[in-house]
Amino acid sequence: AKRNGRNRYELFRPELEAVSRLRRQMEIDLRRALHRGELQMHYQPIIEKAGCRISGYEALIRWQHPTRGPVPPMEFIPLAEETGLIHELGTRALNLACQEAATWTNGETVAVNLSPVQFKNSELVKTVALALEDAGLPAHRLELEITESVLLANTEGNIRTLQALKDLGVRISLDDFGTGYSSLSYLRSFPFDKIKIDRSFVRDMGESREAMAIIRAITGLSSSLLIEITAEGVETEEQFRQLQQEGCSHFQGYLFGRPVAAEHRMQEIGVHEIG
Ligand code: C2E
Ligand code: CA
Ligand code: CA
Ligand code: CA
Repeated sequence: AKRNGRNRYELFRPELEAVSRLRRQMEIDLRRALHRGELQMHYQPIIEKAGCRISGYEALIRWQHPTRGPVPPMEFIPLAEETGLIHELGTRALNLACQEAATWTNGETVAVNLSPVQFKNSELVKTVALALEDAGLPAHRLELEITESVLLANTEGNIRTLQALKDLGVRISLDDFGTGYSSLSYLRSFPFDKIKIDRSFVRDMGESREAMAIIRAITGLSSSLLIEITAEGVETEEQFRQLQQEGCSHFQGYLFGRPVAAEHRMQEIGVHEIG
């Protein structure tokens, strides 16, 4: 057994080292990316039910690595969170998005994702206020998307921070709704302006009664709580039609438009395009 243990140790160590070397390299690369401007924001339209107008855009970060090509946010956001780089990255994303939105002439909103780790920074409210001021963007045109995990750790402190953000005049959305634990109870802990139904429910609603039931529970609740509902990941006209019927107020997904660089931003949506 002892021998076996030793063999195992020797077998695993080089692999672990390789993994941590890769991580360290990625961290170095990400730090460099921040300073060399390899990070960019893309914008995906959010469609309003009434009149199929574009009411705003979600800002989604993109990293074009000089040799590896595009790195998906699901790969580098967790790394940024673990290394603390998320504070700088998050501030950068926020500033870029606010500056871009300030150039939009139809008063569209811009939605920016906040990592739960950013709530550990006591300067968060100041950072947001400064981003708005620097960009000259009215606060009501900024939406901050948070996930349920923000309400799990340091609950009271984070709710105070959310309230302070709301007092600035920005809107607060609850993102990826339905994927966490005791989801519905979170709606009582803070007056969210908007709920975003996670893409997985939209994807499954055609085949799964459970997914549909959850969507109904959310839309039912929202009408009594006066919260807007965005359905994410809308890819088909059938999904769009059903979600409209269920009372969703906003829609986002490839059916309407993919996230694109600011210069390619889709500014209008033709009704004919979406049936
Ligand atoms: P999210 O906030 O849930 O963003 C929505 C994701 O769904 C985006 O992926 C978007 O490209 C994708 N999506 C939109 N419509 C459709 C559709 O119709 N079908 C499918 N299959 N996918 C769709 P993306 O851009 O890869 O971002 C992944 C996640 O990375 C985001 O999920 C968010 O959690 C995180 N993220 C992205 N940008 C930022 C950022 O600036 N800051 C932070 N903290 N997180 C970010
Ligand atoms: Ca989001
Ligand atoms: Ca989401
Ligand atoms: Ca998601």
